Amino acid sequence: MLLTITTTHRPATDLGYLLHKNPARLHRIELAFGEAYVAYPEATEERCTAALVVDVDTVGLVRRASGEPSLFQYVNDRPYAASSFLSVAMVNAFRTAMAGRSKDRPELVATPFPLELRIVGLPCRGGEAILRQLFEPLGYEVDAEQLPLDERFPEWGGSRFFNVTLRANVTVRDALSHLYVCIPVLDAEKHYWVGDDEVDKLLRHGAGWLAAHPHRNAIARRYLKHKKALVRDAVQRLVQQDMEEEDEQQEAKAAEEETIEKKVSLNERRMTRVLEALREHGATSVIDLGCGEGRLLRSLMQERAFTKVGGMDVSTRALEIAREKLRVDTMPERQRAKLALFQGSLVYRDKRLREYDAATAVEVIEHLDPLRLSAFERVVFGETQPRLMIVTTPNVEYNVRFESLPAGRLRHRDHRFEWTRAEFRAWAARVATTYGYACEWLPIGDEDADVGPPTQMAVFTRTV
Ligand code: SAH
Repeated sequence: MLLTITTTHRPATDLGYLLHKNPARLHRIELAFGEAYVAYPEATEERCTAALVVDVDTVGLVRRASGEPSLFQYVNDRPYAASSFLSVAMVNAFRTAMAGRSKDRPELVATPFPLELRIVGLPCRGGEAILRQLFEPLGYEVDAEQLPLDERFPEWGGSRFFNVTLRANVTVRDALSHLYVCIPVLDAEKHYWVGDDEVDKLLRHGAGWLAAHPHRNAIARRYLKHKKALVRDAVQRLVQQDMEEEDEQQEAKAAEEETIEKKVSLNERRMTRVLEALREHGATSVIDLGCGEGRLLRSLMQERAFTKVGGMDVSTRALEIAREKLRVDTMPERQRAKLALFQGSLVYRDKRLREYDAATAVEVIEHLDPLRLSAFERVVFGETQPRLMIVTTPNVEYNVRFESLPAGRLRHRDHRFEWTRAEFRAWAARVATTYGYACEWLPIGDEDADVGPPTQMAVFTRTV
């Protein structure tokens, strides 16, 4: 079994600090089912490769096995297939890296590296399609070469084994977690007992990415060998854990709100434009997704036309502030009855969202990483399907007009991206076509002749 991890990060030998394995040495790791070695076939400033070689002691495994000996124990793919044994070897060889620690270079742990991962002889039940479904949503470019069933008889066709190369800009820790979970998912055989602690392992290694993965349920099912109760437990806990993490992150970030946009005026104009659009389209019940401290909710509550108003946010702290600012506690009963404030994440399907005919996401999408943004698209447009959906986001072209903003910086530290007008239009057009919506692009704030408006809005109306 062979896994290689290559980077062209400068200096590339930083990889050694992250993996906690000195590139100058050969490392031997004792395993319950054999042994593993970590060595570096290349280690220069420009390019560094770490190789994990696993040597399965097949004879030892048979000797230690309980029950009747069978032919399968002797004739199998264990010595060469990149099976779940490889995942086990990875945790043993790279334990510190997978826990997200680095003694000598702690700042590198969260740094994405250009990585190339190569796995030789990876069994893929379900073929190349499954391989792509697993890794592409995580941002990998996937190269798969199917191995023949038998080199001497090409007419027999391909085997279920692939030599796979994955390329992405990811942290070493995330890359190792992705492989740790996905290798046994691809492999039909899981060589060890699947018990409750497997759910814990899945949760630990899936933290931060699995909950929002489009094939989350299928991954949990295959990883846990279709044990229904475990799968249900795992999926519930994954979503809960992910929401709690997001909640904590948002709280930390709320403290560092920036004043770059001279918030008040632009914010007011944004809310006014959104309200106008809601009125124009005759919306009566509205849910504000990522409502934050409830700025839009306040205006929505003041208008009679809106008979049902909802606010959802992943941050419990933001919701508490919203509750205070809206004075929910002292609100007349009739008003209170039309308002619902609740915690939720807009990357998970949620029945409560279907009770509204219009939805808004004001300055929210730019806080979502690519995996979450595509989950947001599925949840909102694919599953909730509001009749009217309004999305606003900064126009990055306008940033040059903010004097206090250093060139190239985004408006908020937590923004994962900021789009140009063309990028936002292209995104909106793709989403609209995919999910059966018509969309219109509108400016918010004074339009500059060269760089456009400070904020942009897309109004989606369902056509089917
Ligand atoms: N719409 C508000 C807040 C914008 S700030 C306004 O314009 O004032 C972005 C908000 O999105 C934050 O309150 C943050 O907690 C929320 N958010 C980020 N990720 C989220 C997610 N996955 N689900 C729900 N809300 C999220």
